[in-house]
Amino acid sequence: MQTDFIAGQPVDVGSGGIKVQRVLGRNAGPMTGPGTNSYLIGERRLAILDPGPADSQHIDRLLELIDGREVEAIFVTHTHGDHSPGTALLQSKLNTEIIGLAPPQGSGQDPSFRPTRLYEHGERIHCSEFTMSLLHTPGHVSNHFCFLLEEEQMLFTGDHILEGTTPVILPPDGNMRHYLDSLKMLQSLPLRYLAPAHGRVMDKPAQVIETLRRHRMRREQKTLSVVTQRSLMSVASSLQELALGVYDDVPSHLLPWAERTLLAHLIKLAEDGAVVCQNERWQLAESLSND
Ligand SMILES: [Zn+2]
Repeated sequence: MQTDFIAGQPVDVGSGGIKVQRVLGRNAGPMTGPGTNSYLIGERRLAILDPGPADSQHIDRLLELIDGREVEAIFVTHTHGDHSPGTALLQSKLNTEIIGLAPPQGSGQDPSFRPTRLYEHGERIHCSEFTMSLLHTPGHVSNHFCFLLEEEQMLFTGDHILEGTTPVILPPDGNMRHYLDSLKMLQSLPLRYLAPAHGRVMDKPAQVIETLRRHRMRREQKTLSVVTQRSLMSVASSLQELALGVYDDVPSHLLPWAERTLLAHLIKLAEDGAVVCQNERWQLAESLSND
């Protein structure tokens, strides 16, 4: 195993101007990669970002690393089960401010998550040793925040930007148009590092974000061309049929997840007026009007 992917072992990331440590959780898996990263930020007074699943061993490890120091805030990027449920366990020992957005309806959400108050896009949270900006980045899910550690120009990207893979977009709560708008918003920021919830910290933010944006646009184009081909043969297609064509480069065990993101693309294309859906079958809008 690579030495920087050992669960519970802290890894220093960034320039060191503000101390940031990545601590990998014990939840490696097909959807979590090596596992969820928790981050410890600061030296004498800390903040914790994404406590991870309700895994008492991981939370005990975080408490060991906190080692009695004051924790001024827990930041939570979103409320999927691999990010937020550990918050309640940690909070029972810390009693600190909990910063994030309440869970929306939907599967895979953590109903136990309770932020301290309502937080808004653009707010700046002043901790003793650093300032964190709150950036609402809907797309993967509607209640996703990225957090900008201003002094380091380090963006904690949660599941909005991952290392080594692309995030799934999960309709109806997730939304491809919002996802692309969120990426565009991030492109306007001066960034030095991207610190994802899964994988390593990345140091070429502009390049990574542009590659991700292009990947989504290519997938949208491919979606449209597969729908077009099948519509020319007068075939309206199910999501599963389209996935086989659009995601022909994805291993079959990941296809159910690819179908969710494909649905997000199709919903966007339908809003754009390019495709239509009838009885859960998709075809080109113009092929329908020619009937
Ligand atoms: Zn997620």
